Amino acid sequence: MTATTIEQAETQANWKPAILVKGETPYSWPFQPKVALKWLKNYLFGPIALIHAGLGLFTWFFLTPSLATMQNLVWDWVALIYLRNVGLLFLVTGSAHFWLYVRKGQGSDFQFNKQGLRENDPRFWFKNQTWENMFFGIVSGCGIWTLYEVLTYWMFANGYVLFPVEWLESPIYIAFLFLLIPHIRAHHFYFTHRLTHWKPLYDAAHYLHHKNTNTGPWSGLSMHPIEHLLYLSGVFLHWVIPSHPIHACFHLLHAGISPTWGHTGFNRIQVNKLRIDTNYFHYLHHRYFECNYGNLDMPWDHLFGTFHDGSQESKKRMGARLREQRKR
Ligand SMILES: [Zn+2]
Ligand SMILES: [Zn+2]
Repeated sequence: MTATTIEQAETQANWKPAILVKGETPYSWPFQPKVALKWLKNYLFGPIALIHAGLGLFTWFFLTPSLATMQNLVWDWVALIYLRNVGLLFLVTGSAHFWLYVRKGQGSDFQFNKQGLRENDPRFWFKNQTWENMFFGIVSGCGIWTLYEVLTYWMFANGYVLFPVEWLESPIYIAFLFLLIPHIRAHHFYFTHRLTHWKPLYDAAHYLHHKNTNTGPWSGLSMHPIEHLLYLSGVFLHWVIPSHPIHACFHLLHAGISPTWGHTGFNRIQVNKLRIDTNYFHYLHHRYFECNYGNLDMPWDHLFGTFHDGSQESKKRMGARLREQRKR
């Protein structure tokens, strides 16, 4: 088959959004107030944002022991936090997987790669992509999420964080930082992810995430433990800037469940009237590896010339950049 015929066959088999990738970003220059406002509306009130914030608040207020209990490291409450985190992962990631791949609730509508997830493939543990993905998400992902979370609460409970803040002292600051966390995480994600593409780290750890050339919801948190240690490390910020333990709770919960959306393998989840736009951007990262390291609304891929919108022009640009890198 010639290259063009392969492209044609791919286009027929798979689905591509009509407008490839267009990020609404507050970083467009010159500054565009309308674009920034649209971004802000989605950032605060989009369905994904509401799911994250709602779960963050519920988890802190109803599913987290009191700081007094967490002053001493005792297995019972630590185990409960681990089980709660596994439960959260099943609730969000498991539900998305169930709807898209088990119940096949929307068939292959908006599915990027209609071949779906790998089964009976010896490259994956248990010869099954989903089982391998679930294993690393539940054991290593929820394990290190819990480790960091427990350690941070214990530090808050014993006065080891630098600037603890109280609700009554600074309610507005606490709310503001809570809302800012997904954005802080997006910056942190770009740099840690970029680091894992450094060859020694890629070969030691990040290769595991990239075994998923096509992804499903469980692929999101399917990482090597070394990568989990880095990926979840953003929570250390709350050890050194004025923070309340609710921030650590939400920070880690967001890191645990938000990768679901970029890895669904679909451009949209449609359940009756509910529509959750996921995106093509990170799918392209899994398909081509050396592009789109960050999130769609971050400036970094534009700035460093690694932005790929799915078009032939972007593909050519990426090819030229990689040839140039190899020469050097
Ligand atoms: Zn990924
Ligand atoms: Zn990567």
